Amino acid sequence: MKNKIANYLSELQGEQIKDAHSLEQFRLKWLSKKGILQILMDQFKTIADIELKKEFGKSINELKQKAQSTFDEKKALFENNTQPDIQDDLTLELNLISITSLHPLSIIKNEIIDILSRIGFVVSDGPEIEDDWHNFTALNTPPDHPARDMQDTFYVEEDVQDITQDPKMLRTQTSSIQIRVMENNEPPIRIICPGRVYRNETISARAHCQFHQVEGLYIDENVSFSDLKATLLYFAREMFGKNTQIRLRPSFFPFTEPSAEVDVNCTICSGTGCPV
Ligand SMILES: [Zn+2]
Repeated sequence: MKNKIANYLSELQGEQIKDAHSLEQFRLKWLSKKGILQILMDQFKTIADIELKKEFGKSINELKQKAQSTFDEKKALFENNTQPDIQDDLTLELNLISITSLHPLSIIKNEIIDILSRIGFVVSDGPEIEDDWHNFTALNTPPDHPARDMQDTFYVEEDVQDITQDPKMLRTQTSSIQIRVMENNEPPIRIICPGRVYRNETISARAHCQFHQVEGLYIDENVSFSDLKATLLYFAREMFGKNTQIRLRPSFFPFTEPSAEVDVNCTICSGTGCPV
């Protein structure tokens, strides 16, 4: 009898339960009304010798607890996880599917950083809630400039727009980072500042009140406008293709002299003319 239970115990330990179906097979074999444990219980009742009965009962109990806990454990596992238990089968081939991906804006941002870091620019960052000094005054924006108006700028406190009170706002440009870097670093400086900016504009298919800029700042001896032009041309060709053309148009910005805006030829028709 003792040997019989020892054999059952090792049989129980060798049970392979891989799915809900084999779990049910396990239950029928061990724990059901016609299962091994019930048969053992029936035999237990027929034992007359008290000492033997005591010993036998203890062994059956042990076996029963093991069977029940094995069953409970697997049941909980299959209920919580529909995947096969890979811990039980180390030969299973891992088929990991990536469920994450980058946002298109992050992909483009990373590409821009990659292109410009190849020619020595490093990334600088700054706060998105700025004070008047860094966002406007230090960039030569006059006190009565329309950009300072509530119609154009999101102020943190609507009633605080007086410059003397240094009002806080969502930055309207990443140029505020230029000021912060120049305040804290000696030249040479060669940075780019990618980041979100905010303007109080009507949302349309072409414009949003929150958009992205990449600022560049290069301060060193013997740096001229031709370096700016070469950098912009290099960037446009790395980004849009080696035949890309750029055009610089004289423009006005309060914080740069001389100033220009840059155009890039159409990447769809290469400038031959198309609806885009
Ligand atoms: Zn075109």
